Amino acid sequence: KKRFDIIIIGGGPIGLASAIEAKKAGLSYMIFEKGCLVNSLYNYPINMTFFSTSEKLEIGNIPFVTTSPKPQRAEALEYYRRIQTTFELNIHLFEEVLSVDKENTGGFNVKTSKAAYEAAHIIVATGFYDIPTLLDIPGENLPKVRHYYNDPHYYAGQHIVVVGASNSSIDAALETYRKGAQVTLVVRGPEISPRVKYWVRPDIENRIAGKEISVFYSSKLTAITETEVEIQTPTDRICLKNDFVLALTGYRPNFALLKKLGITIPEESPCIPYHDPNTMETNIKNMYLAGVVCGGLNTHLWFIENSRIHAEIIIAHITQKLDA
Ligand code: FAD
Repeated sequence: KKRFDIIIIGGGPIGLASAIEAKKAGLSYMIFEKGCLVNSLYNYPINMTFFSTSEKLEIGNIPFVTTSPKPQRAEALEYYRRIQTTFELNIHLFEEVLSVDKENTGGFNVKTSKAAYEAAHIIVATGFYDIPTLLDIPGENLPKVRHYYNDPHYYAGQHIVVVGASNSSIDAALETYRKGAQVTLVVRGPEISPRVKYWVRPDIENRIAGKEISVFYSSKLTAITETEVEIQTPTDRICLKNDFVLALTGYRPNFALLKKLGITIPEESPCIPYHDPNTMETNIKNMYLAGVVCGGLNTHLWFIENSRIHAEIIIAHITQKLDA
């Protein structure tokens, strides 16, 4: 079995940042990524513009040069791809980590979808984009219900309902409206989320005011059929003709995997997986958490700008222990 000083689970921006630091410290490491390189970013909507300016997405002190202040998905994919090739980072793509078991000797046995490995340390940088938050209503399992939105063209001429009021939902509502979809927004609270990108807000507000996009506030979807949706509004229960539902109601970390790894997760929301914020070490010695996974259900707590530092904190802690 191949043995590494560190196995990094997840080839997102923070997994890559961790690999850069491991390499700088002269430690042997391997990243395992279950999908393609920066898989979460690859699965973002095709036209997505980041809310961060490009310098805030930088890792390894390599400039992220863009001509517009907020980079687009395709530019970020290219940036992180060049990071991987420039630093010649070790990564196995399309290889999922299935289990990690503590060895008697203090290290870890790691089983992936392809092989078994050993590591002295584990960095869990698995993000939160793999598991959508479900509506939990009848009809949610119909193929017309989507928890990921990609390309607006697909919805041209269709009656669509977009559930949610934060960035993903508002971007999807505006883009599909502009490709000729008949869009209805269903919003649980009384207004559009205050977190919506400041330059997008006037656009959605004006489309709603002009009745180009319909909206039901303080409302929820209660059922979905092949041809209709049922909406509970504050006053009525109504049915609308419907072709597609975009249920963009957020995502959550893979708690089942974290529990399987042995990480303590409190029952109560926001279910922040246990880690010491000074070292990022979990309740399991030599197993660390990095990146947005650290926020548990609070997926707005961490982003690239404020979590890229986890890589340095973790590698500093590991090298200190090794030097001691
Ligand atoms: P991810 O990028 O999610 O990486 C985790 C990786 O782990 C994934 O590639 C996944 O495939 C892999 N993985 C999971 N389980 C396993 C396993 N068992 N085995 C192997 N691999 C596994 N943040 C910003 O800073 N600025 C923004 O503008 C911004 N915009 C966003 C827009 C959208 C639509 C979304 C959803 C998020 C946005 N974020 C933004 C948050 C952003 O996703 C994160 O900041 C960033 O992706 C976090 O990087 P990460 O490496 O922690 O996690």
